[in-house]
Amino acid sequence: MSENKKAEAGVEKKAEKIAAIKGMNDILPVDAPLWELFENTAQSVFKSYGFQQIRTPIVEQTSLFARGIGSVTDIVEKEMYSFEDSMNGDKLTLRPENTAGVVRAVIEHNLTYEGPKRLWYTGPMFRHEKPQRGRYRQFYQIGAEALGFAGPDIDAELIMMCQRLWDDLGLDKVRLELNSIGDADERLKHRADLIAYFEQHRDQLDNEAQRRLYTNPLRILDTKNPAMQALVNQAPKLIDYLGDESLKHFERVQAILRHNSIPFTINTRLVRGLDYYNRTVFEWVSDDLGAQGTICAGGRYDTLVTVFGGKETPSCGFAMGIERILELLKLSGEALAPNQCDVYLVHQSDAGQMQSFVLAERLRDAGLDVVLHCASLTGLGSFKSQMKRADASGAGYAIIVGEDEIKQGRAMVKALRSESADAAQRMENSQIAVPFEDVVDYLVEQMTGSDDHDPGNCNHTHH
Ligand code: ATP
Ligand code: MG
Repeated sequence: MSENKKAEAGVEKKAEKIAAIKGMNDILPVDAPLWELFENTAQSVFKSYGFQQIRTPIVEQTSLFARGIGSVTDIVEKEMYSFEDSMNGDKLTLRPENTAGVVRAVIEHNLTYEGPKRLWYTGPMFRHEKPQRGRYRQFYQIGAEALGFAGPDIDAELIMMCQRLWDDLGLDKVRLELNSIGDADERLKHRADLIAYFEQHRDQLDNEAQRRLYTNPLRILDTKNPAMQALVNQAPKLIDYLGDESLKHFERVQAILRHNSIPFTINTRLVRGLDYYNRTVFEWVSDDLGAQGTICAGGRYDTLVTVFGGKETPSCGFAMGIERILELLKLSGEALAPNQCDVYLVHQSDAGQMQSFVLAERLRDAGLDVVLHCASLTGLGSFKSQMKRADASGAGYAIIVGEDEIKQGRAMVKALRSESADAAQRMENSQIAVPFEDVVDYLVEQMTGSDDHDPGNCNHTHH
C-alpha cells in the first residue's frame, strides 16, 4: 500500500519530525545556568558603568544594514537573511548585528537630546555563514554603544568595562589587540598607497583580494590566507598616515589603559569588517577557541549617526559573541549544577496533594524554589518513582506527604544531597517528621544555617 492509500485507509503513520535550521541552535536547559550566569554578570557590570538597556526589533529595513554596514563587507555581500514581506513588498532583513538598529532607534527617539547616552543590548543575530565551531547562523551578541562621546576617555572606559567582565567571569587568558584606523581623509591617502602597493604585487593576490582591490582594499589586510601574509605584512600601515589629532586620541586611549594596568598589544593590521569604524578599533582574542578566537570586537564610529540622517554624534561601541565566551567558560572548567529546585514535593492521595499545594506555595513565599510533583501520562506514579524524580531534580530536600503524614499532621522532610544530609546528620537520620505548620521554618533554617546555601539560586561550583 502506498503512504497515501495507507492514510486513506486510516492506517496509523507516525508524523514526520521537523528539524531545526542548520546553524541555528537550541539552547537546552542543561546549558541555561551558564547562560544565566553570563547574562547576569554582564548586566551587572554594564549597570555599574551607568549603561542602560535598549531592545530593538530583530527585523529591520534591508537598507539600514546596506547603508550602515557598507555594501562591500562580508555581511552585506553574502551573509544577510533578507526577504520580501509578502504582505506589502517591503524589503526586510534579520539583523546581522545591532549597532545599526541601536543607532536607528537613537535617532528615531532623539535619545541623545539631553546629552550623551550609554546603552547596551543583547539578543540573537543572523548571518548566513558556513556553520562551524564558533560560527553559527543564529548566534547571540551582547554589546554596548556609547553615543555622543567624542574623546578617547569613553574608548578606554568601554575597554575597561570588558576587562571587568572577563575578571568577574574568571577569564584570565583573553588578549586585547588595539589599533587606530584614523579618520576618513587619512584612510583615503593610505588607501591610494595601499592600492598602488597591491597593484605592484597583483600576481600574489588571491581572488577575494583581487575583487576587493578597488572596493575595500583595507579589508585585504584582514585576510586569513597564509599565502598572503608576507605580502600584507609589508603593506603600507595605516597608523603611519595618522594626523596629529588621531595620534593624540590614540595615545590617550593607551595612556588610560596603561594607567589602569590593562595590557594590550598594538596590531597595525587590525581593521574591522564593518565600514563605519574610525580611529580606535579593538578586539579581545582567545587562543583557546581555534580559528574563531575573537570574542569581542569594537571601535569608534563617529560618522554613522549622520549616515543615517541624524546630527553629528561621535560614538564608540563593541559586540561580544556569547557562544564563544560560553565555550571559553566551559573550557576553563566553569560547571554549573543544573539544579531545578531547592525542594521537591512528593505526595499520595487527594488530601496529600491538597496539603502539598499549600506547602509548596508557603515555601515559595519564603523564597525557595519548589517543584510540586504533577501527574504525567501515566498518572502521579508510585512513591518510589516520585522519589526518583525528586533525586533527579537536584533538589536538596524532598518533602513527603502521604496518607500517614496527613493523619499525623506532619510531613516527612528528607535531605537528598550530601551537603543537606550533613546538616541533617544532627537529626541522626536524613529523614525527619515536621508538623505541617513548621515545615517552612524548618527548611529555611536548614538551608540558611548550613553554611553557604543561597536559597532561590542554582548552586554553582568553580572547579
Ligand atoms: P569574524 O571575523 O569571526 O567573522 P566578524 O568581524 O564578522 O567576525 P563582528 O561582526 O565584529 O564579527 O561581531 C562581533 C563578535 O560576534 C565576533 O567577534 C564574534 O565573537 C561574534 N560573531 C560574529 N559572527 C558570528 C557567528 N556567525 N557565530 C557566532 N559568533 C559570531
Ligand atoms: Mg564575519
